[in-house]
Amino acid sequence: MSQIKLLSPRLANQIAAGEVVERPASVIKELVENSMDAGATRIDVDIEAGGVKLMRVRDNGGGIEQEDMPLALSRHATSKIIELEDLENVGTLGFRGEALASISSVSRLTMLSNTEEKGAGWKAQSEGRDMDVEVSPAPHPKGTTVEVRDLFFNTPARRKFLRTEKTEFGHLEEVIKRQSLSRFDVGFYLNHNGKAIHALKPCSSQLERERRVASVCGPAFMQNALHIDTEAAGLRLWGWVALPTFSRSQGDLQHFFVNGRVIRDKLVSHAVRQAYRDVLFHGRHPAFVLYLELDPAIVDVNVHPTKHEVRFRDGRTVHDFLFRSLHRLLADVRPEDQLAPTV
Ligand code: ADP
Ligand code: MG
Repeated sequence: MSQIKLLSPRLANQIAAGEVVERPASVIKELVENSMDAGATRIDVDIEAGGVKLMRVRDNGGGIEQEDMPLALSRHATSKIIELEDLENVGTLGFRGEALASISSVSRLTMLSNTEEKGAGWKAQSEGRDMDVEVSPAPHPKGTTVEVRDLFFNTPARRKFLRTEKTEFGHLEEVIKRQSLSRFDVGFYLNHNGKAIHALKPCSSQLERERRVASVCGPAFMQNALHIDTEAAGLRLWGWVALPTFSRSQGDLQHFFVNGRVIRDKLVSHAVRQAYRDVLFHGRHPAFVLYLELDPAIVDVNVHPTKHEVRFRDGRTVHDFLFRSLHRLLADVRPEDQLAPTV
């Protein structure tokens, strides 16, 4: 008798969820990315009990067509790419079409949406079942709300790894902070157990952007930061880097974005570390909020399911550009009396 069987869609999704959905913070990352991809200018995130009980992300983006609602929750269904070539130039944060399918396979998920300013909306629900999603009418303004309840209710092994409410919320807040630094034109509003934690209005001026950075990274960071905006060979680097005197005992204040995407990359970290090398004491870490912009065709974002890593086609050029730009900036502030750490 045949021993090999196709996995049910539900089980396949639950297995895939292992890669994408580690904890509440990973759900929020995916949902907020979807809202940003949908062109939202306002994103409201409501959390209960560190996200384990409830996570609700509401946006005023383009919405999802009624007939697309079941598809949005299916694996490998995306509106963002059609063919392999699109991946070369992907301008959206998402493209794998698996986040909602994964999340809905390990939670009780409800999605409401509407694509019109006027008119009714619709609702789809999926309770970790196979993808027999039913769509019914439900009022909703233009945009989308995704509600995720009881994360890991059907995967006890995963649930065991959840930490305290406070810890999980801390991770989740960190995600929102990073994302708010990636899109100054979007307003972010985070509530936990009914309490407003962050209310970050959209920024249009440089002053407003600096205020947002100060509120996310702390006013002391901004007071000690140098502004940089430099370009060479099709690469642009801009943002804020702290003076060496504002170094940290941990790498907790390091935000790096590549074409608006939150990135943690070895090559980038190395370039920054090298630039600070002769102005930082051993064991101290620089603080920065930096944006690298380059032709999407020369960076591959499809390296890992969470898309935190990228691969540069010409890593050496990127490394040199980062190192040189930052080294030059720091060269202006290198008097001996600035070498002592304070933080
Ligand atoms: P991906 O983002 O990789 O396409 P997802 O599973 O995250 O995959 O989402 C599937 C699809 O559902 C998206 O391609 C998009 O068309 C739609 N979608 C998801 N969230 C939203 C949202 N907040 N607003 C509009 N469309 C959305
Ligand atoms: Mg997505």
